[in-house]
Amino acid sequence: MPELPEVETMRSGLESLLGRSPVIREVKLLRPDIRFPIPKELPKTFRDQPILAVRRRAKYLLLDTPEASILSHLGMTGSWRLVTSLSEVSKGNHDHCAIAFADGRYLVYRDPRRFGVLDLVRHGEESTHPRLRGLGVEPLDDTLFTAEFLFATSRKRKVASKVFIMDQRIVVGIGNIYASEALYRARIRPTKPAGRLTKDECQRLVEVSRVILREAIMQGGSSIRDYRQASGESGGFQDSHLVYERGGEPCRECRHPIKSKVIGGRSTYWCAKCQL
Ligand SMILES: [Zn+2]
Repeated sequence: MPELPEVETMRSGLESLLGRSPVIREVKLLRPDIRFPIPKELPKTFRDQPILAVRRRAKYLLLDTPEASILSHLGMTGSWRLVTSLSEVSKGNHDHCAIAFADGRYLVYRDPRRFGVLDLVRHGEESTHPRLRGLGVEPLDDTLFTAEFLFATSRKRKVASKVFIMDQRIVVGIGNIYASEALYRARIRPTKPAGRLTKDECQRLVEVSRVILREAIMQGGSSIRDYRQASGESGGFQDSHLVYERGGEPCRECRHPIKSKVIGGRSTYWCAKCQL
C-alpha cells in the first residue's frame, strides 16, 4: 500500500512531469465509481481549468485549479501516469479516469483493486470535506509535529505506541512500515503504552520519523507490490528496512533475532534487546 513517502514521490513526480499550469481540456470518467462514486460534476467542473499546483495532504493528492481541486487517494494499487496518446488508456487495464490536456497529453488514474478515491474539493471546503476533516498533523511539518505535541497528546493513552503513532487523527502518514522502522531507530518497544512515553522518547520518535520519511522520499518510496512512481520506475526504500519484514533475521545492531507480532491488526517488527 502506498504510504506517505510514495504519495509524496508521486506528487513531486507529477509536479515536474506536468510542468507549468497545464490546461485541462476534458476529464473522461471510464467508470462511475472506484471505492466510492466519483462526483458526476467532475468533468464539467474542471473543463478548461489550469492545474496551478499539485499538493499532498496526508495520503491524498490534490490537483488545484482556480475552480476547485481534484482529490485522489491511491488506495492499495492506485497510480497516476502521464501518456501522450489515448491508445495508451484502456478501461480493460483498470484505467478509471483520464484527464486530457490542451497540449495533447493525458494524465491517467489506474487502480486494479479499486480501493482508491477520486473526488472534488471546492475552495474553503478542505477542513470540512468528508475525506479530509479530522486528519492529524503532517509529520514533515516541524512547527506542528513536535516532541511537545506528541507528549501532550499521548498522556493517559493506554494504546500501544505503534498504534498511537499510526493514528491518522494524531499524525498522518506514518504507516505500518515506517512505524516499525521509526520505533526501532528511536529504541522504543512498539507495545509500550503511549501514555508512558517520556519527553525524550517523544523527541527521538519525532526526529527519527521525520528522518525516515525524508530518506524514503529521497529514494522514491518503498516499492512493494503494485506501487510505481509517476515515471514508472520502482522505488528503493525497501532495501534499507532495518526491521520491517525481517522477522527472525538478526538485528543489525545487536544480532538478536528480530521479533514479529500482529499489533493492532498490523504486522509489527522489533528487536526485544534494543527497544525498551
Ligand atoms: Zn537489537
